[in-house]
Amino acid sequence: MKVSIISLFPNFFTSMLETSMIRRAIEKKVLEVELVNVRDFAEGKHKVVDDTPFGGGPGMLLKPEPLSLAIESVKKDHSHVIYFSPGGELLHAKKCESLAKSYDHMILICGHYEGIDQRIIDLYVDEEISIGDYVLTSGMLPALVLLDGTLRFVEGGVGNKESVYGDTFHIEGEFKAPEYTRPREFKGIEVPKVLQSGNHEEIALWRKRAARERAKKREQKNTEEAVCIR
Ligand code: SAM
Repeated sequence: MKVSIISLFPNFFTSMLETSMIRRAIEKKVLEVELVNVRDFAEGKHKVVDDTPFGGGPGMLLKPEPLSLAIESVKKDHSHVIYFSPGGELLHAKKCESLAKSYDHMILICGHYEGIDQRIIDLYVDEEISIGDYVLTSGMLPALVLLDGTLRFVEGGVGNKESVYGDTFHIEGEFKAPEYTRPREFKGIEVPKVLQSGNHEEIALWRKRAARERAKKREQKNTEEAVCIR
């Protein structure tokens, strides 16, 4: 999978690309990441990339010309273009899996300031994606989140494929049960007896029940919070 990330601060991504699973995937040639700086496509001595919005309003917008040139510098016929926006479709596990399996080249456009000129979205963007109902200062963290979440579903992207498909969210509504490692007792809390029993049937049942309990608790919490926000 190749991913081209278009932003104002490509350096932001380098530590993540040089560490973690992402680095290993790059080394194994499972992943190729291309960092594109919008400013490289801006004209004039000052390389201006932003301007005030028509009709007034606070903040600045990324101008269309440099952004358009940046996109065209990496876009191929088969490229899938994503713009990160708080108002976009919410990213979830199934979406990560489907992106990983559907596209071998994704172009990720990171907004900055108040966002980007709408015409870039109209002309180039295949879909707008949000990573949650809150507003961040740029689309750079969303780009990393999508890259990391998607890579897990790319063939060879992570060492243990089994762990990906057993993870929370892979099966709708299912959560991972609590997990423990040695020591058997830590600060007065003992690992549940059933997990120490060696009885695989009982363990599987316990995990299923505990996972459901977790999902129920989260649903309750989310409902309470939704009511508070309203
Ligand atoms: N004015 C925009 C609005 O109200 O929708 C918010 C702009 S935000 C300060 C700057 C950029 O951060 C956006 O253009 C987008 O690329 C990115 N961004 C912020 N929150 C995001 C989220 N929850 N999901 C995805 N991208 C987000």
